[in-house]
Amino acid sequence: MISDQIRNLIGVEVKDDCDLASFTTMRLSSRGTLIEVLETQALVTLLPYLNNHQIPYLLLGWGANQLLPPEVPGVVLHLKMPVSPESLEELKPEYDFPASAGLNQLTALAIKYGLKGWEVFTGIPASLGGAIYMNAGTNLGEIGNLIRTVTLVTPTGEIRTEMIGAKSFSYRKNYFVKPGEVIVSATIAHQGIDQAISQKIKEYLEYRKKTQPLATRNCGCVFKNPHPTIPAGKLIDLLGLKDLQMGDLRISPKHGNFMENTGKANWDQFSSLISIIRYQMDLWYGIEFELEVKIPYH
Ligand SMILES: Cc1cc2nc3c(=O)[nH]c(=O)nc-3n(C[C@H](O)[C@H](O)[C@H](O)COP(=O)(O)OP(=O)(O)OC[C@H]3O[C@@H](n4cnc5c(N)ncnc54)[C@H](O)[C@@H]3O)c2cc1C
Repeated sequence: MISDQIRNLIGVEVKDDCDLASFTTMRLSSRGTLIEVLETQALVTLLPYLNNHQIPYLLLGWGANQLLPPEVPGVVLHLKMPVSPESLEELKPEYDFPASAGLNQLTALAIKYGLKGWEVFTGIPASLGGAIYMNAGTNLGEIGNLIRTVTLVTPTGEIRTEMIGAKSFSYRKNYFVKPGEVIVSATIAHQGIDQAISQKIKEYLEYRKKTQPLATRNCGCVFKNPHPTIPAGKLIDLLGLKDLQMGDLRISPKHGNFMENTGKANWDQFSSLISIIRYQMDLWYGIEFELEVKIPYH
């Protein structure tokens, strides 16, 4: 399926029939062709190749809000552009980072200098690219408000820069990544220096540890909150569904909107559990639950 032209391309590593379970935080079993991308320039060749040969591809960041099917059609792209150590040392008004940078690296920088605004993504397991795509956030705010520009590679291999504005994001959603485009880097600003930020981040991390099952294999929130003041987890809890188990998959006893893989949970168990929750929500509350977790090819 993948020609030698691509296998020999500088800046990519092709891994056939790869075990992809460890590439998602929930670790459902999955296999497929993985292409690790180490340079933006490689995407300029790779994306037109995949599109011209009608090979489907999906982007995988940390796989913290994405579940892969047992056999992934086409290829999985995983960005591994290096983050320059200097960029994690300096104090600047704004920073350019590759999409492969981890939010944990940015949080370490925020703690070091007290970067105001960066507390909003405290503890979210994510690559910067995945966090921008999802407009990740906490009840302190969303990452989208800090992003100034996003650079993408288009399916035809052009590099384009998106200027971020008031209408670029909404709750867990972006409006500018077009189908087939890949986020390769972004500029992120802060709102000044505040020495209280490092303490705020540490306290918020403690709060998250108490309220979310962080030590388990899960994919973050499965459903979007149906309304800003109505958390999906609370509704699941009210219906007494917490702890419901389907094989090795259970609704977290700690947080109703998290599902935990306690052993060898599989795709079918996940599908069954979300169907039960959606049916119950519709039956008792007349609410149609929308998935937050991305499930490609579903
Ligand atoms: C324990 C736990 C706690 C969590 N807590 C939170 C929380 O508090 N708030 C929150 O918002 N989320 C939370 N999440 C969910 C998750 O961390 C976020 O959604 C995060 O943004 C996903 O980033 P990722 O790099 O893992 O992306 P993935 O899950 O790999 O991908 C998510 C989507 O982004 C797309 N994508 C990824 N990279 C790119 C790219 N470079 N270009 C184009 N598209 C791309 C993917 O194709 C996919 O559609 C949590 C998850 C876990 C496991």
